[in-house]
Amino acid sequence: MRDLLHPRHLGALRRFAGTDGEAPVLLAFDYDGVLAPLVKKPGGARMRRRTRALLVRLARLYPLAVVSGRAWKDTRRLSEGVVPHVVGNHGFELLHPVPVPAPVLAAVRGWRRQLEAELAGVPGVHFEDKRSTLAIHYGLSAAWRRAERAVYAAANRLEGTRLIPGKKVLNVLPHDFPNKGDAIRSLLARLGLTAALYLGDDVTDEDAFRLGAPMVMGVHVGAGPSLAPWKLRGQERTDDLLEALVGLRERVGGRGRSGSGSRTGSRSRSGSKSRSKSRAGAGGGR
Ligand SMILES: [Mg+2]
Repeated sequence: MRDLLHPRHLGALRRFAGTDGEAPVLLAFDYDGVLAPLVKKPGGARMRRRTRALLVRLARLYPLAVVSGRAWKDTRRLSEGVVPHVVGNHGFELLHPVPVPAPVLAAVRGWRRQLEAELAGVPGVHFEDKRSTLAIHYGLSAAWRRAERAVYAAANRLEGTRLIPGKKVLNVLPHDFPNKGDAIRSLLARLGLTAALYLGDDVTDEDAFRLGAPMVMGVHVGAGPSLAPWKLRGQERTDDLLEALVGLRERVGGRGRSGSGSRTGSRSRSGSKSRSKSRAGAGGGR
């Protein structure tokens, strides 16, 4: 993986994301560990003020999406309304909250009951019940490795599930649920776009990275192996990438193209030199 913020690689970012006047790509972000620092408490962290301010500027320049394993309402609350397109529950809740089908509700409730019974004596385990999926957090005690073993042993006995490991969390999904790769493809189709820059830090994000070029420019945030060809060294570098993306399209003393115009870019990103090209030269994204 190459560091996307290394000066040597900023040209690759510029070629993919395009500059002022070219049709935009979708900018899509996981929330926890990408737009906000990872924290122990399952409620999640707020974004830094700088992150929030940069997203407000970016939303005028690109289509923006947040794609989280959290429930849609939770994702919307944490992203504070500054990201226009919100996807929750790994893509099950695409752009709006989705009523959970009764059989799924019943299955998830059953899994939770079974897990609660089996993990009753294990300290530091917390269930995040998203109604259509379940997340078992186990990093809350010093003895988290013991909790991890117990959680995996119990979850492996459930039927009809897909288990997706995260950072001190195990996600339990119905086996036929969409994943984040499905979510990105659906978003692109809905928005009439062909490509997305995607930032993620977790195992569930690998499904989006797997789509690969030319559809997805994958950026893994933080240490660890990933299918993504690009990385940021840590969550604190997210702001620097957002700033670079702003710089590609926001002109000195101007705003690039009008915000609404950027949503309706043509399907082809390549070679579309627009009327505003003559304003180039201000050096955005250098
Ligand atoms: Mg994450």
